[in-house]
Amino acid sequence: MNILITGGAGYIGSHVVRLLSFDKSVKVTVIDNLCGGDFDSVSVLREFFSENSFTFIKLDLSEFSKVQELFEAHTFDAVIHFAAHLQVGESVQKPIKYYMNNTINTTHLIAMCEKYGINKFVFSSTAAVYGEPTQMPITESTPTNPINPYGMSKLMSEHVLEDTAKANEDFKYVILRYFNVAGASTDNSLGECHIPETHLIPLIVHAAIGKRDKIMMFGDDYPTLDGSCMRDYVHVEDLASAHIKALEYLANGNESDIFNCGYGHGYSVKEVIDTIKKVSEVDFKVEVAPRREGDPAELVADSTKIKAKMGWTPKYDDLELICTSALTWEKTR
Ligand code: UDP
Repeated sequence: MNILITGGAGYIGSHVVRLLSFDKSVKVTVIDNLCGGDFDSVSVLREFFSENSFTFIKLDLSEFSKVQELFEAHTFDAVIHFAAHLQVGESVQKPIKYYMNNTINTTHLIAMCEKYGINKFVFSSTAAVYGEPTQMPITESTPTNPINPYGMSKLMSEHVLEDTAKANEDFKYVILRYFNVAGASTDNSLGECHIPETHLIPLIVHAAIGKRDKIMMFGDDYPTLDGSCMRDYVHVEDLASAHIKALEYLANGNESDIFNCGYGHGYSVKEVIDTIKKVSEVDFKVEVAPRREGDPAELVADSTKIKAKMGWTPKYDDLELICTSALTWEKTR
């Protein structure tokens, strides 16, 4: 099986590529513009593969003619599409940046799949498509109503996939709506690194190891138990395994579908801070800051469907383990 992975050098993408390396029948081509971080995941990933089974091409999805040349030159069996901008706050300030990359470049990628007859597409989507849901936990039939351009840009791409599949019965997709992915790989080879870093767990880890002097808690007046936002934090390796399941699901001839991916319980920002204080044994400074624009109070997944239909069996549903893995990776990378 020959798989194209966009954004395969990024945080979640690299973990999926690593898992795919354990299947010796798989060949992987990663395209990535390397804009997301300063960690050289490509060199790490190369070590997992034999020489002919891993190809890396530095490429931005907005370079339409180069993307087309890639499809012209290779025959892919499936595409896993990660490459995207991902900061909720930035998307509110720079919506066009998000619609251009997350929606328009994705639409072009889907068009290439149609043109070159690639019929299996796994798409990285997000719980942000649900906006501020009234029902918790969130099922796949909870109404979508994004409250920020990031969520909307992903939802629009979901619609492009759905309409493409309606018009072309051979084209099948799996949309994975991620909740809050966190942690590092269990072998400590890969972890989270974004530039700039905006995600909660790596930022708290930075405070614990002295890379920053404090952590800002965005809002303590939300309608939650302790006033801080609640999120469903999923270990990155469990999320990566959902992509392997999605490929199997499509290879087995199943119908296109949408799946939530989370553990089904939330932790507050305060609880995450306390957990990292505990595992790091460092009492770093915490400051309450105003709410961050575009942040819903609570996002928790109902993942019954992915477990039932794909047999997804998460192994690392443990906040201390997630935080410890993030801390260990940051200390040793
Ligand atoms: N958050 C925070 N301080 C930070 C970064 C994030 O309080 O420095 C909060 C943020 O407001 C949200 C939660 O942590 O409620 C998770 O945010 P993150 O950016 O990690 O993921 P998101 O939920 O936006 O995908």
